[in-house]
Amino acid sequence: CPVTAVATTVEPLPVLGRDVRVPLATGGEVTYAALDYAASAPALQRVWDDVAAYAPYYGSVHRGAGYLSQLSTDLFEGCRATVAAFLGCREDDQVVFTRSTTDSLNLLASVLPAGCRVFVFETEHHAALLPWRGAEVTYLDAPRSPREAVETLERALADREPYGPGLVCVTGASNVTGELWPVRELAAAAHAHGARIVLDAAQLAPHHPVDVAEWDVDWVAFSGHKLYAPFGAGVLAGRADWLRAAEPYLAGGGASRRVARNAEGGVEVEWHDTVARHEAGSPNVIGAYAIAAACKALQEAGFDRLVERERELIARVRAGLADVPGVRVLSLFGEDAPRVGVLSFVVDGWNSSRFAAALSAEYGIGVRDGLFCAHPLVRVLLNGDRDADGECGGPDEGRSVLNAVRVSFGAGTPDEHVERFVGAVRELVSA
Ligand code: PMP
Repeated sequence: CPVTAVATTVEPLPVLGRDVRVPLATGGEVTYAALDYAASAPALQRVWDDVAAYAPYYGSVHRGAGYLSQLSTDLFEGCRATVAAFLGCREDDQVVFTRSTTDSLNLLASVLPAGCRVFVFETEHHAALLPWRGAEVTYLDAPRSPREAVETLERALADREPYGPGLVCVTGASNVTGELWPVRELAAAAHAHGARIVLDAAQLAPHHPVDVAEWDVDWVAFSGHKLYAPFGAGVLAGRADWLRAAEPYLAGGGASRRVARNAEGGVEVEWHDTVARHEAGSPNVIGAYAIAAACKALQEAGFDRLVERERELIARVRAGLADVPGVRVLSLFGEDAPRVGVLSFVVDGWNSSRFAAALSAEYGIGVRDGLFCAHPLVRVLLNGDRDADGECGGPDEGRSVLNAVRVSFGAGTPDEHVERFVGAVRELVSA
């Protein structure tokens, strides 16, 4: 069954790797179709060019009197304002550069006030589910609609009152289903019960504008490598008070304002109470610069138009898979729920790892298979008609089925990649 190719109305943004050729198991080669943006997106050409233009001027940040050190320090500090504008931050919010979303959420976990209770849905990515080790955590069952998510959270918050400080951690868009979560409503529920909220925007920020002030979220975390800026940096942005009040995340140079031996022969430290407090060590200026370049590139290209284009592509994937026998798209909120360009599915009679391997070997398509660092969520999604530790019949008899295939794309994805993917799924299923 041929896939109807209707061109999307907006051009994809140029990314690195567009022309990479890969060998096929069947002989010959093909242009690689990178459909695993949710794991790591290719760098925008514009990000690469901006980094290359800056690279000769690279210098130490906050650690040198030379011209290039001064320049690099100014650029690094300027990146905070660019990121803050991209996220719609409040004026007094801090933008801390970290290594990744995982690092950002672990940093936040390290500054929780004493007695803080954390509320987190079981559906979260492990980076959002696991960092709260020192705190009391209430794990919330997977909701089956955005409204149920808000009601579940409200009930949990109400049950726990009075609980002292509280923090809700929630994703903006699921890395498994791509579904959008009701961030504004969850933030309102958290605040109504005196709790704060951090938004895991690892999957949201690359695909959808974020508005920290408008949505009234206290913090937001995301990773550069999913936002077309693969240079090892991430961001935690938001309220300064908890950050200022806590011990530094890492102890070391840069975070300390004054260090001296004391009368007892020990060492006394005064920590910075600025953003430097949680950025000990030499900062990753290239990483921060790349993230800021990506923020600018997306805004200048018209983020809304890119979001619209992605919606067209995901609708095409949904329509293309809808009538393929045995393909089941995974969803918490219902098949028609709004989602970013991320979608997971299972195919009857196929082990998902074998299916993903066939997409790569026979069609040059790179997707991901597995549990996507969201084991509880994938269990919930697959348990409808599959045993978590069950086995699969058909050609894959005897293999575990507790995994799925995920396809994901974004601003750099050409229409052809999506068409190739839908055509490949149909061919593999009917073969
Ligand atoms: N949260 C979500 C929703 C994610 O998809 C990911 C990455 N897959 C993370 C957090 C963690 O991001 P990183 O690996 O960059 O720390």
